[in-house]
Amino acid sequence: MNIKTITALIVVAAVMTRCATQPKQETIVMKKDPHSYSRPNEAKVTHLSWKASVDFDSKKISGTAKWKIEQQGNPGVIVFDSKGLSIAKVTLDNDEATYFKIGQKNEILGEELIVSIKPETKAVSIEYVTDPSAEALQWLSAQQTAGKKFPFLFTQSQAILARSWVPSQDSPGIHFTYDAEVSVPKDLLALMSASNPQQKNETGTYKFEMKQPISSYLLALAVGDVSFKPISNRSGVYAEPSLVDTAAWEFADLEKMIAGAEELYGPYAWERYDVIVLPPSFPFGGMENPRLTFATPTILSGDRSLTSLIAHELAHSWSGNLVTNSTWNDFWLNEGFTVYFETRIMEKLYGKDYAEMLASLNLQDLKDEIESLNAANLSADTKLLLNLEGRSPDDGVTDIAYNKGYYFLRSIEEAHGRDKFDAFLKSYFTENAFKSMDTEGFKNYITSYYQTNFNIGLKDSTFNKWIVTEGLPADHPQPSSTRFKKVDEVLASWKAEKPLDATQSKDWSTHEWLHFLKNLPETLTQEQMKAVDSFGNFSNSGNSEIITAWGVISIRNNYAKMNPKIESFLINTGRRKFLSPLYNEMLKTEDGRRRAKAIYDKARPNYHFVATNTFDKLIK
Ligand SMILES: [Zn+2]
Repeated sequence: MNIKTITALIVVAAVMTRCATQPKQETIVMKKDPHSYSRPNEAKVTHLSWKASVDFDSKKISGTAKWKIEQQGNPGVIVFDSKGLSIAKVTLDNDEATYFKIGQKNEILGEELIVSIKPETKAVSIEYVTDPSAEALQWLSAQQTAGKKFPFLFTQSQAILARSWVPSQDSPGIHFTYDAEVSVPKDLLALMSASNPQQKNETGTYKFEMKQPISSYLLALAVGDVSFKPISNRSGVYAEPSLVDTAAWEFADLEKMIAGAEELYGPYAWERYDVIVLPPSFPFGGMENPRLTFATPTILSGDRSLTSLIAHELAHSWSGNLVTNSTWNDFWLNEGFTVYFETRIMEKLYGKDYAEMLASLNLQDLKDEIESLNAANLSADTKLLLNLEGRSPDDGVTDIAYNKGYYFLRSIEEAHGRDKFDAFLKSYFTENAFKSMDTEGFKNYITSYYQTNFNIGLKDSTFNKWIVTEGLPADHPQPSSTRFKKVDEVLASWKAEKPLDATQSKDWSTHEWLHFLKNLPETLTQEQMKAVDSFGNFSNSGNSEIITAWGVISIRNNYAKMNPKIESFLINTGRRKFLSPLYNEMLKTEDGRRRAKAIYDKARPNYHFVATNTFDKLIK
């Protein structure tokens, strides 16, 4: 068998447009999933029964993954993705032994697990043990938790790390249901992206069921000393006991968010919506594991100002979890739609001006990202539709997918009206529920929807200038926030050498402070740094967004007062969004590079693979 012939390029569509005022536009080319060895067109999984036991001493999970499968024709084999797993035994249906082998291997993709099957085979069971260095699994010592008494384990499967703890057809284009039985040490609770227990039991064995089909990157497990606090009859929060009340206070608007989201784009499809607050080494802000969002403790700001992150993860219950990107090249379909939806939820709850502050900050982040990708010779990564073949799909996790995706969708909304766009979105989520979507499929769906329902012909050139053209179209939507205009006035008066004064900022939220920090002049004298610091009290902030923004400015301007705080923040936080700007700013000078290296050596044991994979390359 030659996998290469099967995963060869498939050109689904080719659109070529030229326009005098725009840069040369390229062709939309779709490919099969370049990040999975599986061949779902021959044999694919439909249901997982997972039985596993978690051992903290050896940092291993021993498990059996019993997959129900469907065949097309008579392929003779089924192919799974595996990474670092020790496979003990593979059987078919009722314990019938079968032949298996490891085919191709690759540092990014892991191993191709090929299992012989018969035409009548309905199930394949794989008995295996994970490796202590399994990339999805983060094993934390008791010392790395808030309570300091018990160890903690959490998974991060997105993008292609599920294969390091469950042998799977690890492609977002493949959906399956699952059930699980997981044994953990008796003092700990196990939770999954499924129906979950709300308290510990005597046996340490927990059962789970996920009745709605998901993709493998949404397989998730957390094990730790956690307790639960309800927020409404369908939502609540899990966290270490010392954090659970703080978390419940911070997420008090959860039920309002779910109801608001449902009013916009249709019923919530997953029954319960709970959030677990993880220890600080979690590499992302949140991960939209179905029914149970995994969240970083860095959003516990104490003033509910960072809850748009929860709106984001909740929005994924529609965009991503319900309608899933077919491959990681189409990642913007997951994230652009989610940022759009998140912003609409925030607007519904807190008003237009609040949402426009978020959109303005997103635009600034997007422009910065484009600049830094261009500077790194990665301008091809500023297109919405990516080509990540031969690269890690994590390379596609940039502000392009999120914020350029958002501005593209907003441009369609603004061009033809919100009512039409909302009607389209509702239909898009309903009709494509529990399916995968690629960029070309999205384009076809929206074009035909606008034509049929509104007699509006959406032009190819509109799609091409956003999807396959680098950078940001000059006619992108412009957010406008009156609250930020007031911040701009304060900045202008200060630049005109009038002193900063606390009455100017007495009602500012985190967003206004961020806007202020991000629009300060590039270089500041020590006197100016002190004046700004006493205006915003930034060096004493406990808010991770502020610490990062002020940290970057402090590094750039050699403001030594922040050094200890930056160091302890980098050691104690694993969220890549905050680590990147701080390390990157240090790496700009020789002294800074030495400092970054010294801090990184101390911090690295606290980071998840997703973070070390980024920074090992950067900080040599
Ligand atoms: Zn997201």
